[in-house]
Amino acid sequence: MTSLTCTQALSAAQTLGLERLDAQLLLLHALGKPATDRAWLTSHDQDVLSEDVDREYRQLSQRRAGGEPLAYIVGHQEFFGLKLWVDARVLVPRPDTETLVEWALQCAAEADTNASARLLDLGTGSGAIALALKKNMPSWDVTAVDASSQALAVALANALQHGLDVHFMESNWFANVSGHFHLIVSNPPYVADDDPHLIALMHEPQTALTAGADGLSDIRQIVARAQGYLQPGGWLLLEHGYDQAEAVCELLRQTGFLDVQSRCDLAGIKRCSGGRHLGRQDG
Ligand code: GLN
Repeated sequence: MTSLTCTQALSAAQTLGLERLDAQLLLLHALGKPATDRAWLTSHDQDVLSEDVDREYRQLSQRRAGGEPLAYIVGHQEFFGLKLWVDARVLVPRPDTETLVEWALQCAAEADTNASARLLDLGTGSGAIALALKKNMPSWDVTAVDASSQALAVALANALQHGLDVHFMESNWFANVSGHFHLIVSNPPYVADDDPHLIALMHEPQTALTAGADGLSDIRQIVARAQGYLQPGGWLLLEHGYDQAEAVCELLRQTGFLDVQSRCDLAGIKRCSGGRHLGRQDG
């Protein structure tokens, strides 16, 4: 097998059906170069790949062509400016979820709290939301739970990597949680069990994705119990599916949340909804 030049390697991957950007990132990975080195590929387009790099790159391209997320193949994903290590134990952090982080930062900035403000992230997965929030509000006490011990191992490794002091705990939603929080955030599973989009997500943990016939069963559980864990005036903020904003807002209102509202993702789709728990006026 003759080794390919960079240009030929990129074309070969595109023939397999890969996006050009993905092919470039995989080639850089096989070359041991950072993702920021795409310009290097252009200036070395006629370089011939070594046999090892060539073989590695062909394997990586095959994996991507088989639908495996790029983040699993290269082993990391950027989220809110943090490089997070990810693999098949956790969902790949999505840019849409940055909407939830930005909203949580606004709520935190407006919260009338002292230094001991507490935040809870339910279903933390790779730790993305909890770590982004801890990084941006270091004085907050951040607890993050997940029902999967395997996911928690990934989250803990990410916390250590970034030197962020987040308390991780194994818990199925609120099962092992105690105390009251000024802010509760969650990106729970919200895809309907028979949603055709799941085929494209088959490499990711299904328990982190699916939530019953209408995709709302986990959100229902969280909304039903959250007020018992919120400080008066505290916010519950949830990510949800592109067509679930109305249903989630209705659930929040029915449960007694106030100031119920939604926020849009980068595509302008209502992607997060939340409300406040007003237990006491002056809490
Ligand atoms: N946003 C993901 C998707 O639809 C789903 C994430 C989730 O269920 N929390 O690809």
